[in-house]
Amino acid sequence: MEEEQKNEIPNITVKDVNVIYNEGKSNEMRALEEIDLEILPQEYVIIFGPSGCGKSTLLYSIAGLQKPTSGVVMIDGEDISAYKKKQMALFHRRKMGMVFQAFYLIGSLSILDNVCLPKAFDGVKIAERKAKALELLERFNISNQADKFPSELSGGQKQRVSIARALVNDPEIILADEPVGNLDSKSAHIVMSILKDLNEIDKKTVILVTHDPAHLQFGDKIVHMRDGKIIKIEIIKRKKTSAESYIFKDGKIQENLQGELVKEEYIPLDLRHLMRSFRGLTANQISNLLVPFKAQQIFSHLFFSMTNDQIEKAIKKVEDFLYARNELDDFRLELDAPLEKGGAGWDKRIAERFALEVNELTEQAKKISFTEKIQSAEELVEYINIKMKLNLDDTKKGLLSGAIVDRLENSIGKDEFEKLMDISEKKSGLGFDKRVASKIARELELLLLLRYSS
Ligand code: ADP
Ligand code: MG
Repeated sequence: MEEEQKNEIPNITVKDVNVIYNEGKSNEMRALEEIDLEILPQEYVIIFGPSGCGKSTLLYSIAGLQKPTSGVVMIDGEDISAYKKKQMALFHRRKMGMVFQAFYLIGSLSILDNVCLPKAFDGVKIAERKAKALELLERFNISNQADKFPSELSGGQKQRVSIARALVNDPEIILADEPVGNLDSKSAHIVMSILKDLNEIDKKTVILVTHDPAHLQFGDKIVHMRDGKIIKIEIIKRKKTSAESYIFKDGKIQENLQGELVKEEYIPLDLRHLMRSFRGLTANQISNLLVPFKAQQIFSHLFFSMTNDQIEKAIKKVEDFLYARNELDDFRLELDAPLEKGGAGWDKRIAERFALEVNELTEQAKKISFTEKIQSAEELVEYINIKMKLNLDDTKKGLLSGAIVDRLENSIGKDEFEKLMDISEKKSGLGFDKRVASKIARELELLLLLRYSS
């Protein structure tokens, strides 16, 4: 009897990789610390952990899209950081296919052309390209959508298109960054089945990034991450089966489920990377691609790339803190605790920063006196001056303080206050930049709101 033998020589080796963002600056972030990982050919690897723990950074390091600050990534015996531009482009085109949460389909191209696109750069003849793309669309049961445009498809269908695009050059490795994070559960199930089949039937190496424990059942190797480190690598011994598979029953997905529309959730920070693998797009196409990227930037700035679940849980924790049901330390620990244990499942470093900031806000709000308005205004000026690094001189401090007193007395409203911040000094305003003006106004309103809360 012959046992199925896997090649036990790793095709991907990550050795002592560190990634530091904004090194040496005040916002320095050690996203990855001393990462060691080996991935075998045809393995299904899951990178698992809470938002912000470094999963995407690790995936992009493996993809050669994020250069490690130190350490090496070897793929098929080659150190990919030594690749010249051209080699890297070839590597991206031939060896790996990437799938993202936000799909990144090009709105001005038909579904078929979206799938053909990576082949276009390879100089493959049009007819041949289209045939290959259609074959993939057929396999995923969306060939009837070939002439439509991305906006006409459901989220689940779009993700199947983006998987077809990732496969069109027949790469050995499929990298997927939270590919079902935006999908309803039925569409998610189909996409997860497709990834499973790509691993089991097509013998692709699959590397999946997820924060969802329900996906762990698919992996051969689970890489548990926390705070930029691998805390555990679990090897799962299981018998592979395709019994539940949606595809290949007769070469196609059995059910044609209508996915629901994409939720307005967060979009990952990966457009830059995608653009690199699709060099040669027109400016128009790139600007199309930039919209989700911009949205992501805004969202992650405000919410540190969290899922709805993590945000909703965290809001409850903030409520508990505001009701004074919780001390600062418990607040911080609960933000950090896993979702399964009733926490908000945040990355520890983010939880710490956030808890401190909320604490600072509430402490400052408490100091605002309802009677001593002038003194309160002066304290607020100092607080805002330091927090926003405004470097105000005494004249400006006086002006700001006067405006805050007016606001405390309610003789001006929020909009008037903001306008005062913005208009020029000649017109007895403060002459701040519009954005700064609005930021000061928002900060003050938040403080005024918070002083009623405890
Ligand atoms: P995950 O995918 O697990 O959510 P990421 O790898 O995206 O985590 O991010 C890890 C940490 O690095 C987070 O704290 C994130 O805010 C930070 N980070 C990610 N990308 C950048 C960047 N380009 N610049 C600065 N910080 C970043
Ligand atoms: Mg991520």
